[in-house]
Amino acid sequence: MGARLGAGQILLRPLPKGLSAPRPQAMTAQPPTLRPTLRLVLGDQLNPLHSWFAQVRPDVVYVLMEVRSETDYVRHHAQKVLGIFAAMRDLAAQLKAAGHRVRHVAIDHPSNRQSLTANLDALIAHYGAGAVQYQAPDEWRLDQQLREWAAACPVPVTMVDSEHFLTERDEAARWFASKKTWLMESFYRQQRKKHRVLMTADGKPEGGQWNFDADNRKPWPGTPAAPADTRPCHDHSALWQSIEAAGVQTLGQPQASAFRWPLNRQEALQQLDHFIDHALPHFGDFQDALTSQHWHLFHSLLSFALNTKMLHPREVVQRAEAAWREGHAPLHAAEGFIRQILGWREYVRGVYWAHMPGYTEANALAHTRPLPEWFWTGNTRMACLASAIGQSLEHAYAHHIQRLMVIGNFALLAGLDATALHRWYLGIYIDAFEWVEAPNTLGMSQWADGGQLATKPYVSSAAYLQRMGDHCKGCAYNPKARTGDDACPFNALYWDFFDRHRAHFQHNPRLGVVYHQLSRMSGEALTALQEQSARTLARLSDL
Ligand code: FAD
Repeated sequence: MGARLGAGQILLRPLPKGLSAPRPQAMTAQPPTLRPTLRLVLGDQLNPLHSWFAQVRPDVVYVLMEVRSETDYVRHHAQKVLGIFAAMRDLAAQLKAAGHRVRHVAIDHPSNRQSLTANLDALIAHYGAGAVQYQAPDEWRLDQQLREWAAACPVPVTMVDSEHFLTERDEAARWFASKKTWLMESFYRQQRKKHRVLMTADGKPEGGQWNFDADNRKPWPGTPAAPADTRPCHDHSALWQSIEAAGVQTLGQPQASAFRWPLNRQEALQQLDHFIDHALPHFGDFQDALTSQHWHLFHSLLSFALNTKMLHPREVVQRAEAAWREGHAPLHAAEGFIRQILGWREYVRGVYWAHMPGYTEANALAHTRPLPEWFWTGNTRMACLASAIGQSLEHAYAHHIQRLMVIGNFALLAGLDATALHRWYLGIYIDAFEWVEAPNTLGMSQWADGGQLATKPYVSSAAYLQRMGDHCKGCAYNPKARTGDDACPFNALYWDFFDRHRAHFQHNPRLGVVYHQLSRMSGEALTALQEQSARTLARLSDL
């Protein structure tokens, strides 16, 4: 297990190359020692197939902790805290049942010092530990915290691979080093080739094209029926009471007595089966659709299981590819889904590690307007936002188009504070961990990184929302009107956004049509839109 190190030294083992399976490592049996090794398992490292667990070793104690330093760095959704703690408890129980030594530190245990490093210090003393090991954290915050702690630790500390991702932390940075822009598509094609996913025997993309994005943009007419929610249901009421008693502040509905997010890998695999069987065939068509009728449509709900490492991205990608090869799902569905995981997910992780620290403070458009109160209640008359935020509070989940083209779209048009918005997204979603949330929020959604990730801002007027969904039908606002009391706020905000940010966007070739339309607008029409926008921004809380 890594080289022997002196006190205070940390060995950073290189992450392995290629698409390697989370395979058990052959380990030489070691005699029990009086000075055990502590192995820290973080709350998003719940992979029971990690090679650490391949052998039962009496000289190793696995440590899982529920701590306030993790519940409090941002205000999380109640289901996120519950889901992670419940899954940690489940893994701890599984490891114990398999014969491993486990120390699980509960949130309300009197010995809990409520920080990872303070607890590690106490546990080193308690066990007389001779070494500490941890898996590479995915968040810069934790990576830094553990490195600093390790540098002063009286026993050797080793960081090992989490054996989760398909690419190395710096792989995207290396790929883009010689390129002008960080185009996701070029990285994705490289990953398809490297991992031989959806490729023909002679090295061409299946179907003759790399990307079927154009086939992924249909609105949903109400048929086929969206799959039922078959996720298991657990009663976590007792755990919720402990979390509340410990004083953890959360947002959203806990749904503790009928909790639906997977507790372990077995349940996550059932969710994967269900998705492949019932939703994947239609995922491609309706990937970008919006509807008030169904809260997840044909989306997989797999992000929590993936980000906590209950599932490996490789197995998810392989299942989708196999479904296409077996004729169960069309190519544009399998490709569209695989692109999200092999492409976007690995790519945003690369963006994150290439630009941290500092990325989370990015605010290229200098947006500072406070988030309106309805971000915490869903109580707005704009039907699309009420639905997207309402379901986020209810389920700790919104699908991609709700996050990007409803909530993010509005926030960007309204110039909402980029950092506050980042913290909101980081808290509210069950799958929100900074490595994936920050590039999506600040890069893709808010253009706060100055266009490093997105070649143009993802914004639209009401026309797009009306085309892609059914919310406008039941909305208090008129999607066709640009001005007046009942005009959909997206319309005037849209034109005002491009007008006030000319310096950033008017020479962007992808926005030629927008600026052409603006140039043809009469001065009076533009003034009317600016005034409408100003009135809207002045009463954001009342919209
Ligand atoms: P599906 O639509 O079924 O997609 C399958 C999988 O692809 C997802 O589970 C996810 O692992 C991956 N994926 C899809 N899109 C992306 C993407 N843009 N980036 C990375 N992975 C992707 N995803 C998170 O996992 N955590 C976040 O905190 C997060 N924050 C976001 C914030 C904003 C503003 C936006 C626009 C997107 C965010 N995403 C985030 C990406 C995406 O919206 C979610 O991954 C997706 O909605 C999760 O639902 P699902 O599992 O049903 O996904």
